Amino acid sequence: MARKGRARAPRGPGARPPEGDPRPAGSASFAPMERRGRGGGVLGLALACALATGGARADEVADAGDPRARLEAGAVFASYALGPPSTWHVVELLGHDVAPGDKQRLFLDASESFAGGSVELPVLVARGRESGPTLCLVAGVHGDELNGIEVVRRTFENLRPSQLRGMVIAVPVANLHGFRRSSRYLPDRRDLNRFFPGDPAGSSASRIANAIFQGVVRHCGALIDFHTGSHLRANLPQIRADLRRPGLLDLARALGIGVVVHSGGTQGTLRRAAVDSGVAAVTYEAGEPLRFQSHEIRRGIEGTWSLMASLGMVRSRPVANPMLSAVYYTSRWVRVDDGGIFLTDRKLGDPVKSEDLLGTVTDPVSNERSAIHAPVSGRIIGMAFPQVVIPGFAAFHIGIDSEPPAVSAGVPEPRPQMDGEGVDELEGEESPE
Ligand SMILES: [Zn+2]
Repeated sequence: MARKGRARAPRGPGARPPEGDPRPAGSASFAPMERRGRGGGVLGLALACALATGGARADEVADAGDPRARLEAGAVFASYALGPPSTWHVVELLGHDVAPGDKQRLFLDASESFAGGSVELPVLVARGRESGPTLCLVAGVHGDELNGIEVVRRTFENLRPSQLRGMVIAVPVANLHGFRRSSRYLPDRRDLNRFFPGDPAGSSASRIANAIFQGVVRHCGALIDFHTGSHLRANLPQIRADLRRPGLLDLARALGIGVVVHSGGTQGTLRRAAVDSGVAAVTYEAGEPLRFQSHEIRRGIEGTWSLMASLGMVRSRPVANPMLSAVYYTSRWVRVDDGGIFLTDRKLGDPVKSEDLLGTVTDPVSNERSAIHAPVSGRIIGMAFPQVVIPGFAAFHIGIDSEPPAVSAGVPEPRPQMDGEGVDELEGEESPE
């Protein structure tokens, strides 16, 4: 029996970049940096370049019933950013034509259940009547992280294509297997967020990642990946971005969340893979898993609208002063040295000075108590809930007060953490393999 297609997006030879394009086949459909985009709003030229508008000519998708025509349309779509910016017509997404003014729910054939039924990820698309950037919203890469799922749902519910410039593509639940089981992981305990951009012949995680990347991510100009803390930890609402990349600090600030944390992104994360292929991607981190938290959800919705306003996609008002964001170029996890009962009075967002008491760990048998002190001055941007811990447990994530690095020096790689961890490492403590 023939295998079912994993992604309905145009693929194969027709999806290759045009002759002379240095990008590999299947890489993001993305404007070269020398091309001026239509980002507009408060964002700088660098980002505007990165968000050039797209659109295929109507005649190129006119015969969508012919597979060959689809491939050709796919080829054009893969390079749409190279077309004249004035064109804004029908595009093909996941095998469907999406016309200006359309709001559609599509499905991405990403995997199969144990019973053999296909697992189709809902993909929501709103194509504005006027040309503009393509913004992608992806939530639920970790199936137990719910805040982002609600941010995406409410944001999309209120989008009016008649008032939109550009296109919004949303994947509300990227890890449906995990979501159904209230689990961060896929059924084989793999962390989907370590397998992007994926491989169509790889592990189950890699195949799902590939389907999402080819079906959706390569069409994005900008992308927000929504997450929460993990494993009984919570995060202060924050934007994580690789601040060494052009335009990403402006983009991160434009969400107006107030806290920006530099992070190159662990290899295999959706954000890292998207940025590597030219998509202006950031992560919104807020709250804790397995809960819908109204404050964190509202901040995410406001941030998304603020970004769309900054990009000139909607008429609502962007955040008043994006420069007010605190930007942490370095951060550090504080680990406990003893096992026992971890307790703390600290709250997310608390400023701390070096040597301040953060919490205690008490041996439940001997009553011996050890103190946890702040090793640096800064602000608590992530922390664990009181719980039983063992030595090495990461209890507090501190954004470190520091001057921005000199422009000429660029932003350094995040300082190596204990165990060589990066900022994002607690997005998945366990080895993916
Ligand atoms: Zn996550």
